[in-house]
Amino acid sequence: MSTETALRNAGLRATAGRVAVLEALTSMPHSDADHVFRVVASAVPTTSIQSVHNILADLTAAGLTRRIEPAGSAALFERRVGDNHHHVVCSQCGAVDDVDCVVGHAPCLAPATTAGFTVQTAEVTFWGTCPECAASAA
Ligand SMILES: [Zn+2]
Ligand SMILES: [Zn+2]
Repeated sequence: MSTETALRNAGLRATAGRVAVLEALTSMPHSDADHVFRVVASAVPTTSIQSVHNILADLTAAGLTRRIEPAGSAALFERRVGDNHHHVVCSQCGAVDDVDCVVGHAPCLAPATTAGFTVQTAEVTFWGTCPECAASAA
């Protein structure tokens, strides 16, 4: 599916800015708004950091992007949505990667008690040391 079609299927107009933001996130998942803005600005020179923030909010509300916010990090955005995947974050450099559902399917973790809540997803952040940081420490 093209980026334009994905936008229209989600009920959004396929503006140049939205297309550029989605395509930036295709090549660099888990990017923050500043990083996305630097890439998009080269394709759409009229864009602004504020419009990138607005686009990311619209795309996330429409379910086309997912927003994660590891502790101590700016909000990060990715196109991989709806699969309850988790993240591993480097506690030294902040590198982020995907971790598939821990066991089977969402929510993939069984809480001891849900206090009467119906649970749909579990959001897990694993913290550790990325291969680059491990290599430079060795
Ligand atoms: Zn690292
Ligand atoms: Zn992810």
